[in-house]
Amino acid sequence: MRQLQTEPGSPAILPFPGAFPGWPRPLLHLSPPHLAGGERAALLGALDSGWLAPAGPAPAAFESAIAAITGFPGALATTSGTAALHLAYRVLGVERGDEVWAPALTFVATVAPAVQMGAVPRFLSADAPGWTLDPGHLAEELGLAARRGRLPRVVVPVDLYGQPCDLDAITAACDRWGVPVLCDSAAALGSTQRGGRHAGHGARLAVFSFNGNKIVTTAGGGALVSADAALLAAARKLAGQAREAVPHYEHETTGYAYGLSSVLASLGLAQLPALPDRVARRRAVFEAYRAGLGDLPGVEFIAEPGWSRSNRWLSVALFDPRLFGADRDAVRRGLEAAAIESRPAWKPLHLQPAFRQAPHRVSARTALLFEQGLCLPSGSALSEADQGRVIEVVRGCARA
Ligand SMILES: *Cc1c(COP(=O)(O)O)cnc(C)c1O
Repeated sequence: MRQLQTEPGSPAILPFPGAFPGWPRPLLHLSPPHLAGGERAALLGALDSGWLAPAGPAPAAFESAIAAITGFPGALATTSGTAALHLAYRVLGVERGDEVWAPALTFVATVAPAVQMGAVPRFLSADAPGWTLDPGHLAEELGLAARRGRLPRVVVPVDLYGQPCDLDAITAACDRWGVPVLCDSAAALGSTQRGGRHAGHGARLAVFSFNGNKIVTTAGGGALVSADAALLAAARKLAGQAREAVPHYEHETTGYAYGLSSVLASLGLAQLPALPDRVARRRAVFEAYRAGLGDLPGVEFIAEPGWSRSNRWLSVALFDPRLFGADRDAVRRGLEAAAIESRPAWKPLHLQPAFRQAPHRVSARTALLFEQGLCLPSGSALSEADQGRVIEVVRGCARA
């Protein structure tokens, strides 16, 4: 409850204190929601307006705000980032047996909808600085695939933990073979890449998430963005059960109930103005960890190439057991004993039982990022005292 904070002066907002006695909440969460102060009024406003469903002014205003923040001409608000990915795969025409390429180091949702559509995922290394998809490796693999006569239907790079991938180089490699790029920017709202452009620019489609653990939240939600108005319109139609524009219910295909409700869009409208502050705070948390831990042997923080500015959604570091004196799990357990939540970096998807059959070409370095990687508490409401506590516990694990 300590971390679910409002801005100073705003009223208490949730019935948490005492509402769930005995609820075993760890004291320090990895990435809890951070309220901006206007949420209560926004939610009551939604109720008072009578617009609750995924229609009306709030979703439209939320979409305009996302478009303005990200610099895309339009946005589609969805029930989740995963739903936005699903819609993207549909409008890109992914079919059973098609290959969908992604870096191995990512969240399962990057490829899950495509796999459910019958596509075959192929996993690649995440060896670029910032632990994202390596464009050189991708170009090489695309050349081999062209020779095999089996190019991917789509390539899906990921902005890892908010760190933008090298999208210009990735799209250049894909353009050569006419392969579209879908950027999983789910965690990268507020991050910028080459030329100061917002994350996701240059891809045919990009996706953002407003899940409860992301930098700003609608409790659950997502967005699909594109410079291609026709693609976005096709996705919008599918998100609304693929209704044809006639008075009765007419369907030439089947769609989904993926539109974001007015209630949640209102929550998002109250959250979005805080984004620049949330980016600054998460970056400050990262810098505090780097300043407090970077001198220890065997500790390596995720890199931020000079052409990018990460929102530092999650602060993640590698712990090399030979140099640090303790492995990633020992650090995690040490934090847990101090009631501090941390989490191993993504387990690469080619190592997941669900994808045992999936073709892959993944470096040992990519697997190492999981073996040694740990995400530290990164919430934008994390106090300096709590950051100090995390640093102290981690330092205590070194050569313990
Ligand atoms: C959060 C996240 C998603 C999924 O977003 P949801 O809104 O939770 O469905 C997908 N990919 C990445 C990389 C994410 O971090």
